[in-house]
Formats: sequence, C-alpha cells, structure tokens
Amino acid sequence: MKVLVDPESGCCNGVRMAIEKSEEFLKQSGSLYSLGAIVHNGAEIARLSQLGMETVGYEDLPSLSGKTILIRAHGEPPSTYKMIEEFGVKLIDCTCPVVLALQKKIAKKYSEIAPRGGKILIFGKIGHAEVNGLVGQVAGDACVISSLDDLKALIMSGEIDLDKELALFSQTTKDPAHYQEICDYLRGRIPAESLSIYNTICAQVSSRHKKLEKFASECSVLYFVCGKESSNGRVLYDSCKRVNPRSYKIEGVEDINLSDIDDNDIVGICGAASTTRWQLERVADFITRSKGDSSNY
Ligand code: SF4
Repeated sequence: MKVLVDPESGCCNGVRMAIEKSEEFLKQSGSLYSLGAIVHNGAEIARLSQLGMETVGYEDLPSLSGKTILIRAHGEPPSTYKMIEEFGVKLIDCTCPVVLALQKKIAKKYSEIAPRGGKILIFGKIGHAEVNGLVGQVAGDACVISSLDDLKALIMSGEIDLDKELALFSQTTKDPAHYQEICDYLRGRIPAESLSIYNTICAQVSSRHKKLEKFASECSVLYFVCGKESSNGRVLYDSCKRVNPRSYKIEGVEDINLSDIDDNDIVGICGAASTTRWQLERVADFITRSKGDSSNY
C-alpha cells in the first residue's frame, strides 16, 4: 500500500489568509468573533475556537459593541458593514481579494445596464454567503440560478427577458463545466451585443478540477476530506468520483472504513479549498499507522 497526499490540496489563498489573520489577532487578544463559520470545516473551527474564536450570527451584532468581528473570505453585502458600524463593532475584513473584485464588477455592470432594463444573473448556490454578498451589491436586484433548469424556469416565467441586456457572473467556487453549459445556452439565445459573460470562477478552483481529476485517476482509492457544508467540496468530490468510483468523502479519520483499503492500493488523500494541510496529513498518518505499511506521503 502506498499513501499519497495531493500536493495541490489545502486551503485556497482566501481562506488561508483569513485563518492567518485570525490566528494573529487571537495571539494578541485571545478573543475574536467570526460572522458565520470562518471556513466550512468543523475540525478547523474547533481548533480556532480553542484559541478563542467564537462564531456568531447577524442577530448577535447588537451585543458585540466594542468587540472585534471578522468578515470571512466569502464577503458580505453592504448592509452588513452598515450594521457593524451602527452597533459599534470593530472589524477585521478578510473578504478574499478575488471576491471583492467580483463584487465591484457586479456593482459596476449593474449601474450600466439596470437603467436600460438589463439584468444581472448569478450562477451560484442560492443562500450561500458569497452569493448573498454578491446580490447585496445590487440591493437584491439580481437573479440567482444553481442550474440550467433554474435558468430555463426564469426564462419561462418571464423574469429573464431574452430581448433585454443580460450580464452573467458565477460564484467563485462553481464547477467550470456547468458554468460553460449555462454560457452556451445563453449564447445561442441572446445576441452578442446584449449578453455579457464574465469568467469569475476563481482560478485556484478552476485549475483544481483538472489537477484533482488527474490525481484521483492515478490512485486506486481516494479520500476526499472536507466539511459537510462545503459547496466547493461537494463539486470537487463529484469530479473525483467521476474518474475514480472508489472515492470517499470524509470529514475526518472517524469516517474511514479501513476494510475499503486493500494491501496493494495506492491511497490518495485530497481536499477542498477549505481543507487544511494538517487535516490531510492526519488522515494519511492514520491510514499508514492503521494499515501498518510503508508510505511516501
Ligand atoms: S476559492 Fe478563490 S475566490 Fe474563493 S476564497 Fe478561495 S481564493 Fe478566494
């Protein structure tokens, strides 16, 4: 048996920066509030809470006057910044620069096309924090779709008028192949001069699909480590499963069934944009020790 940890896996830059900033602050003050989970990863949240981080919601803001709150990499709508200011809460803004740039792009495009009756369309997970932050840039005046079927339904209902201008954006962590499907569908139905399509999937995510698929296909069994809530994890895991049917999505070592691993397997370990290196290494270590074999992770 051989155990390989995907060298490309580990937290994306946005999440890594947010975690580093929070650790730095916690070292000095011992207490920090995070507006929503800093990362969709229970094990990492548990580690940070040991250092003094507490996850809170919007309803907690009035009671946090004078305290410090962190906005995570997903970003927030302008209304959140207003509330934070109103309630006298101090802020550490960890919005990922890539998300920040996307928010600005949407706001700018909206100011151009909305007066002419144009619409902003966002391909993303409805209700996801990043998507809420994006929709907030245009005071909620955007359509969100999570599939091609959603788009067809909006066209059928008349909410999207194919005779008007349309600007399409994607949440940063969506599957590039699914986004392409939506782009192609619209290109065939809206004249080029009325359709603006923005490639806003994060480069770290879009390149990850191909690299992960290659890694998954080179292993005989694969463990994909991510939190249950990670939408990026779900999408990337599905890519792995497509090329390697012996792929398992796990949160940690407790989800591993060792009887799934044969003595001559090449065991691959990888993860989502929210999975830390220490979690991947812990899984590799557990499998190596439990199966009692050599490994070169
Ligand atoms: S996936 Fe990309 S855009 Fe999203 S937080 Fe990470 S680095 Fe930023």
